[in-house]
Amino acid sequence: MDAALPSQARASEPSFAELLAARPWLSAAPDVGLMLDGVPLASLAREHGTPLWVYADSVLTARYRALATALGAAKLPARIHFALKANDTLALLRRLAALGAGADVVSVGEYEAARRSGFAPEAIVFSGVGKTDAEIATALAGGIGQINVESAEELARVAAIAARLGLRAPVALRVNPDVDAGTHAKITTGKADNKFGIPFDRIVPLYEQAAGTPSLRPVGLAVHIGSQILTLEPYRRAYGRVADLVRTLLAHGLPVERIDVGGGLGIPYGTEPAPLPAAFAAALQQAFGAFRLPLILEPGRWLVGPAGLLLSRVVLQKQGAARRFVVLDAGMNDLLRPALYEAWHGIVPVAAGRLHAPVAPADVVGPVCETGDTFARQRPLPDFALGDLVAILDAGAYGSVMSSTYNLRPRAAAVLIEGGTARLVRRRQTIDELLAHDVD
Ligand SMILES: *Cc1c(COP(=O)(O)O)cnc(C)c1O
Repeated sequence: MDAALPSQARASEPSFAELLAARPWLSAAPDVGLMLDGVPLASLAREHGTPLWVYADSVLTARYRALATALGAAKLPARIHFALKANDTLALLRRLAALGAGADVVSVGEYEAARRSGFAPEAIVFSGVGKTDAEIATALAGGIGQINVESAEELARVAAIAARLGLRAPVALRVNPDVDAGTHAKITTGKADNKFGIPFDRIVPLYEQAAGTPSLRPVGLAVHIGSQILTLEPYRRAYGRVADLVRTLLAHGLPVERIDVGGGLGIPYGTEPAPLPAAFAAALQQAFGAFRLPLILEPGRWLVGPAGLLLSRVVLQKQGAARRFVVLDAGMNDLLRPALYEAWHGIVPVAAGRLHAPVAPADVVGPVCETGDTFARQRPLPDFALGDLVAILDAGAYGSVMSSTYNLRPRAAAVLIEGGTARLVRRRQTIDELLAHDVD
């Protein structure tokens, strides 16, 4: 829940030392200041400019392996399908594909990105409440592994498109379990009044109907109750309901090949506790273990969130009537989460001197002409000078993907650190590129 609270509401702010201690991939040295995976952030800013997304392959890889290991230890036949909407940087996607991940996509753009970065079509799941006919046709013609259908209306459309293409569409029905994920209202998806999924009591007849439709191959059920979920209780409730449905389907003699358990696993944005992979795997084992069916997981944030940060320069520090403002060269157009969800992100100075200097409350804001362009309110921070660098932590998920060009601000560049060296994986957009689509 913490990450969803307004910044002002966090009872006590973790110190820089506490934030770093909880993130061993970050360290600080007296000469070079803050480093990610041993690479000084100041040198990256010099070489590539700011704002800059900085990702660490080692963190991403370690998290993928930790989750896979926990699933294996729980004897769950499971495949991890990365939810591309959390981060669509092709270099990261390539890494995940190489690690053996599948993909979860919600648009034809994400489908193309997944295909181009090495995911086999069978290893791609297509989710989302508003797939167009063209998107469904592209995915089916490409041999997609599973379409998660979110309504009776969509099931009929998938059936018609598959029939026209002479194919049998592999479909899973997405259950709306009517469970409150206990997260921010804007990222809750599993309640009866959310737009997502098919009401619980309509699943069995619809599944039967799908099984009797020649152009459809129902492969199982899917569920996704929300994002940034920090306790397992909502999962247990939702999975219990899905398990009941699977039992009913099997009792009706209907084929169930797999269960898609969705994503949503939360990460600590400060130093709060979050569920560990082993505990999540145990919850899955408890709900679904007896079926001995393959599971599909769709984590996004959990895999990439901690693996990235947003590096930004202080443009100026100004003293308002009542507050000190630290103005950055990154804005809400780069990282929208604080403005959209009042999300809390750790903000840590890069220079070693600043890390150990006395702190006083400051509002950290961007340059965009909106009051909502605020990264933190009354955050204990040192005195800053023009050009100082700060790292906005845990920005690897729902960061660059949500960035826009509002205020005609070009989209930021990204680098990936692999084996101790960083390489550019997304060029900074130029003003010419930004204006190139206009016809005047
Ligand atoms: C957003 C989404 C995910 C990933 O959610 P995270 O909170 O990033 O793990 C997975 N599945 C579906 C259907 C989604 O919409």
